[in-house]
Amino acid sequence: MATIALHMPATIPNAWVDALVASLPEHKIARWPGGIGDPARIEYVLMLKPEPHALTPYVNLKAMFSTAAGVDHLLSDETLPKHVPLCRLTHPEMAARMSEYVLLHVLRYHRQLPTYQAQQARNEWKSHPQKAASDVTVGIMGLGQLGRDAARKLQVVGFKVTAWSRSAKTEPDIECFAGTEQLDAFLAKAEFLVSFLPLTESTRKFLDARVFRSLPKGAVVINVGRGGCLNEDDLLAVLDAGHLGGAVLDVFQTEPLPVSSALWSHPKVTVTPHNSTTTQPRMLAPYVRENIARIARGEPPLNIVDRARGY
Ligand code: NAP
Repeated sequence: MATIALHMPATIPNAWVDALVASLPEHKIARWPGGIGDPARIEYVLMLKPEPHALTPYVNLKAMFSTAAGVDHLLSDETLPKHVPLCRLTHPEMAARMSEYVLLHVLRYHRQLPTYQAQQARNEWKSHPQKAASDVTVGIMGLGQLGRDAARKLQVVGFKVTAWSRSAKTEPDIECFAGTEQLDAFLAKAEFLVSFLPLTESTRKFLDARVFRSLPKGAVVINVGRGGCLNEDDLLAVLDAGHLGGAVLDVFQTEPLPVSSALWSHPKVTVTPHNSTTTQPRMLAPYVRENIARIARGEPPLNIVDRARGY
C-alpha cells in the first residue's frame, strides 16, 4: 500500500474525487488540503495544478502524477521538485473522446455544414459540388498518443492523412514528415490542419501567419493542443484575408477566453471551452496503479515527461 496525496482544486466535484478514491482501494489516499497529516509519509502525488511550493513539504516523493495529458503548466512551476519523475496521463478513452471532436469538425467542414446552415437560415435550396473524403488531406501536427488515434479514425472514414512531428516516423498509410526542413511540404498538402502540439519553447506561437499562408487556400485549422501554440492575431488576420476556410479552437492563449476576444463572434471561428476531451476518474486509477507497481519493481514509470524536451 502506498500513500498518495490527492491535490485537486476545490472546483472538482466531490463525486469525482470519491469515484477516484473508490477506484484505488489498495492505496491510502490523503486528500489535500485537510487530510494530508504528516507530509513526509506521502510517496506519490496526483495533481492538476498545485500552487507554487505546494509540493515542497513532500520530502519523500517517489513520483508525481499529472491528471492531465499536457504538462506545460507544471513544467513552468520552478518549485516543482526536479529530482522526482513527473508522469502525464494517457488513456485510450481520452484519445477516443478527442478523436470524436476532430472527426466531428473535419466532417462538418468537409460536408460544408456551415454553408448549408447559412442557406437554411435564408430558406435557400442549393446543392454544392462535394469532394470525396479520399480526395481530401488531413494533416496531423503532433503524432503522439492523441494524434495517432485521430489519424487512424480519419483514415477509417476515408481521408488521406499526413503527419508532422519532431522526430521521423514510419506509420502504415500515413505520409510522415518531421522537423522544420519538412514542414513546408507537410503544410502545402494539409486541407485540414489539426494541431496536437504540446506547448514548449519550440512550439510557442508556432501556428502563425507563415504557417497559415503555407496551407492550401480554404484550409481549416483545428487547434486542440495548446492555446499558447497559436498566434490568435495572425489567425484572425489570415481568416479575414480569405485564405483560410475556418478555424475550430478548443484551447486559447488565455482561458477562459476573455469576453472581449474577437474570436467569439468571428463567423469563421468555432470556440469550445477546452473540453475536446476530458479526464475521467476511471482513466486515472489504471495509470496510477500501474506506475506505482512499476516503481515498486524498480522499473521506470510509464509516460515520464522529458523535462528537457518539454513534453
Ligand atoms: P504526445 O504523445 O507527447 O505527442 C506529442 C506530439 O507532438 C509528438 O508526436 C511530438 O513529436 C510532437 N511534437 C512536440 N514538439 C514538437 C515540435 N517542436 N515539432 C514537431 N512536433 C512536435 O502528446 P499527446 O498525448 O498526443 O498530447 C498532445 C497535447 O495535446 C498535450 O501536450 C496537450 O497539450 C494537448 N491536450 C489537449 C487537450 C484538450 O482538452 N484540448 C486534452 C489533452 C491533451 P515526437 O513524436 O517526435 O516526440
